[in-house]
Amino acid sequence: MKILLIGPPASGKGTIGERISKDLHIPLISVGSVLRGIPDNHFQKKKISEIMERGELVPQDIVASLLKEEVAKDTAENGFIFDGWGRRKEDLDYFDPNFDKVIYLKVSPETSFQRISARRTCENCEAVYNLTFIPPKISGVCDLCGGKLTKREDESEETTRRRLEIFEEETKETIEYFKNQGKLVEVDGEGTPDEEYTLVKNALGY
Ligand SMILES: [Zn+2]
Repeated sequence: MKILLIGPPASGKGTIGERISKDLHIPLISVGSVLRGIPDNHFQKKKISEIMERGELVPQDIVASLLKEEVAKDTAENGFIFDGWGRRKEDLDYFDPNFDKVIYLKVSPETSFQRISARRTCENCEAVYNLTFIPPKISGVCDLCGGKLTKREDESEETTRRRLEIFEEETKETIEYFKNQGKLVEVDGEGTPDEEYTLVKNALGY
């Protein structure tokens, strides 16, 4: 099964992707991890590293070619989960993997805000906690390494508001497109991570 996950910030997308991957034994292919994981001997490695070091976005044609390599691997022969590619119409112009199902994790902007403001990251090992769902054992201290937990700069209210706006703009067209193809499944992401995953499993039929 070829699955696309779409969801606004703090919709639980990353966690859901990992759980589907584990249960269905298909790889989670996220653009970020593909770019970070390019092997040193890859012919595009040098070029991509330079672009990323300059803090620029890797051009879509290059990302598309990397993703095509990923889906051609043996590990993806029974399907895959995409995260970060396909929510924009222009992505699909470069590479459309012909998804079977598109899971749209719906959370309200208020929920996004609340969850992001409850997020704490370890300054030392970058482990992520959520004061509501995954609180640390000792307040303000990382369970794993004892580091200090803080709020990340890029999770300010203003940045979050902007990210939500961008999400809305980018996905408007594709959500309609997948809906018309009968592939879109809207999942209520307002509940706990377990509740959300149960709805996703029902939607995917396993
Ligand atoms: Zn830590």
